[in-house]
Amino acid sequence: MQKKQESVGLIWFTNNLRVLDNKAIELASKSHDKLIAIYVFDVNIFNKNIFGFKKIEIFRANFLIETITELKNNLQKENITLLTYFDDSKGIIPSICEEYNISDIYIQKEWTSEELTIFKDVKNNLNNNIKVTSVYDQFLYHPEDINIEIKSISNVFSNFRKKVEKYSTIRAESIFTRRDKTNLINNNTVVPSLETLGYKALNKNNNSAFPFNGGEKEALNRINFYFSKSKKLSQYKQTRNGLIGEDYSSKFSPWLANGSLSSKTIYWRIKEYEAEFGANQSTYWLIFELIWRDYFKYISIKHSSSFFKIDGILEKKYEWKTDDRQIQNWIQGKTREPFVNANMIELKETGFMSNRGRQNVASYFSKELMLDWRIGAAYFESMLIDYDVHSNYGNWLYISGVGNDPRDRKFNIKSQAERYDPESKYQNLWLQKNIF
Ligand SMILES: Cc1cc2nc3c(=O)[nH]c(=O)nc-3n(C[C@H](O)[C@H](O)[C@H](O)COP(=O)(O)OP(=O)(O)OC[C@H]3O[C@@H](n4cnc5c(N)ncnc54)[C@H](O)[C@@H]3O)c2cc1C
Repeated sequence: MQKKQESVGLIWFTNNLRVLDNKAIELASKSHDKLIAIYVFDVNIFNKNIFGFKKIEIFRANFLIETITELKNNLQKENITLLTYFDDSKGIIPSICEEYNISDIYIQKEWTSEELTIFKDVKNNLNNNIKVTSVYDQFLYHPEDINIEIKSISNVFSNFRKKVEKYSTIRAESIFTRRDKTNLINNNTVVPSLETLGYKALNKNNNSAFPFNGGEKEALNRINFYFSKSKKLSQYKQTRNGLIGEDYSSKFSPWLANGSLSSKTIYWRIKEYEAEFGANQSTYWLIFELIWRDYFKYISIKHSSSFFKIDGILEKKYEWKTDDRQIQNWIQGKTREPFVNANMIELKETGFMSNRGRQNVASYFSKELMLDWRIGAAYFESMLIDYDVHSNYGNWLYISGVGNDPRDRKFNIKSQAERYDPESKYQNLWLQKNIF
């Protein structure tokens, strides 16, 4: 009797770099005898962007390496081999499919142009018999559950929030059954080093508000610390506008951005915390912020390429400037505003900046200096350890007056500094060594 051919599924990891609550793993593991996983450090994402900044600066590159190293170990424990390459996805993925006789690929669904380009290039090079299943797995409220047509999503956040809170529910976390050892394949691939990716060694700044490493375990440790161990979650609403240290806010964003932590996992951990220690405005507020995160994803689907255009989703015309000297002064922390400077130096030294800081420096860039907001956004894209295409561009649009702020506010930098840094502790922290 002829032996039935083994069916082999490939999980292609992109921005869903976790084992816990991963829909692609769940779907693949239900349907195949054998499972293999792949992650490609795509050569194209290490190029420069159109404004001349490296698309990924050292902080995020290092975090990504740490994340993939851990993902590889965690998958190995589940007896799934993760192949890792520094290569061009459109070449390596089809060739792996051929080598291992892959019948199906499972991937997180994306919609922004750069991610889609890589995806389409790979698809074009695949054998037609290979089926590709892509699933949304980056949302708190799944697109199939919001009961709103994307094109009808309100351009005002609170309208959206109230609707989803009232009419939608949040799904349980995805699970899958562990494989046995026979699922493993030979694996000589290595995770590239910073040097291989073209960077020098990273010197971590001791004053960083984000001193954590990449990877799923560190993300879960952070939840445990921020929630049950320190109970900081219960004061989140009062502390979230802070500027110094690890604990004024959750610091979940870098793990959320590359998908080593899911928004649903945070949500369900908050619910457990509330059941044990009680709900209050702060426990709710963290969920509120995760809905903002969802919202910018939905707005970017709704407005597609306008999300990245200079006139934004409002199609508003402003006289934007591109003065190189002013842009450089902003980047180097040499403007007339010490509060802006301190924040920009923190970003340059650590790859992180608080939400309060981001709002101020972005408002200064786009509303005070009237500089083309896309340049500021592209610099953030390069530097931020937690860069997330939807949150970054959505917030820049919002602050620059071409997005979702119905009030179109401009920050008064001096009064913001007085309010949030009354004793100048934050400014002293970052400006001391940088007196010009
Ligand atoms: C100009 C500008 C650019 C930004 N770029 C990014 C970006 O590239 N990536 C990113 O994750 N966030 C971005 N933000 C949003 C916000 O500043 C960060 O999410 C937050 O500072 C991260 O710290 P945290 O995890 O401690 O946040 P917390 O206050 O603990 O919030 C918890 C989570 O809620 C979400 N969240 C909070 N505020 C926002 C917001 N305004 N918009 C969307 N989601 C939010 C994040 O996922 C965050 O991790 C930007 C904000 C501005 C003003």
